[in-house]
Amino acid sequence: MNAPSQPVQFAPMPDEQGFFGPYGGQLVPPHLKQAMDDIAVAYAQITQRQDFQDELAQLFADYVGRPSPIFHAKRLSGLLGGAHIHLKREDLNHTGAHKINHCLGEALLAKFMGKKKVIAETGAGQHGVALATACALVGIPCEIHMGQVDIEKEHPNVTKMRILGCKLVPVTRGAATLKEAVDSAFDEYLTNPTDYIYAIGSVVGPHPFPMMVRDFQSIVGREAREQFLAKHGKLPDYVTACVGGGSNAMGMFTAFLNDASVQLVGVEPGGEGIDQPGRHAATMTMGKPGALHGMKCYVLEDADGAPAAVHSIASGLDYPGVGPQHSYLKDLGRVRYETANDQETLHAFMQLSRVEGIIPALESAHAVAWAMRVAPTLPKDANILVNLSGRGDKDADYVAHKLGL
Ligand SMILES: *Cc1c(COP(=O)(O)O)cnc(C)c1O
Repeated sequence: MNAPSQPVQFAPMPDEQGFFGPYGGQLVPPHLKQAMDDIAVAYAQITQRQDFQDELAQLFADYVGRPSPIFHAKRLSGLLGGAHIHLKREDLNHTGAHKINHCLGEALLAKFMGKKKVIAETGAGQHGVALATACALVGIPCEIHMGQVDIEKEHPNVTKMRILGCKLVPVTRGAATLKEAVDSAFDEYLTNPTDYIYAIGSVVGPHPFPMMVRDFQSIVGREAREQFLAKHGKLPDYVTACVGGGSNAMGMFTAFLNDASVQLVGVEPGGEGIDQPGRHAATMTMGKPGALHGMKCYVLEDADGAPAAVHSIASGLDYPGVGPQHSYLKDLGRVRYETANDQETLHAFMQLSRVEGIIPALESAHAVAWAMRVAPTLPKDANILVNLSGRGDKDADYVAHKLGL
């Protein structure tokens, strides 16, 4: 491997104002800035308390089922004839994805702050289910905004949210997907930021959310690094994860940032082709620095400078922005961002299902698709660790219909 030999050392990020280099910050009106600062202060307090750390660790173990295992996909690797592919099984978590990790943290924080309602948006419904689950557990009211298009596509998750007792708000404005759901949920939050808390579903939004969500998710990479070292006596050559807002990727990458020998690769949704505006969501590959939802970050914009229409076969990835830390890591060259299109992703979804008996979420299948693309080009002793961010039960009907199964 031609990896750089210099150890990389990153200063702790973000800075006091919530900046990751030029990205992040708090692009919000003054009264909201106060609410965000209050959250940052409460977060700093709660993380220093041993009782909070103990409660979260106990819930990770007994409720989520952590640590999630790493599975060596031997048959898939053998078939591809190159590097070994290993999967960090976040799909085995309670509720079936990585999102429960930060939702538990956010729900506990909301309780600590005495908030009366937790508000959020959801795309694929995964954040909604995870948050409704965490709120049921902690005992706090929860309101989820979801695009009408996604409601129709993700019916099982919609049903689960209703069963879990949250209030579901359908959003019909615009393209009626994730971006509009964010706008709608934010409007409701603005009516009373003192009593409500907005539980952002990824490493996006104003400070302190990109930091908080990353910290809660960083358990994934800490476990994975230790597990991989214990099993193989060395670190993987590549660590990869899909990137929507970027929470599962940041959760995985954080533990490896200072390991110069480990190449980090984020995989964005190439949709129907990155040369087709509006038909992909490859924010960092095709976008440019801008501002969205209270932060500076890479943004996909249309001709008028508004956030562009986006598409991905995976609802959880169709977002025209991306986390500020990812934006900075791209500029620093520490993380490389690649794309996988809908077609390759569907192929990876089917291959992993049929060769390993693991049905991945379509989001996660983007990272699997990238690993499958490069594995044959790498030596047989190379290792690729893929964050399998979630399971594909929610996508099974959609894929079967699409492929005529
Ligand atoms: C929501 C979701 C994603 C995308 O969100 P990130 O914040 O980019 O991780 C990826 N995988 C699964 C399974 C999801 O539910």
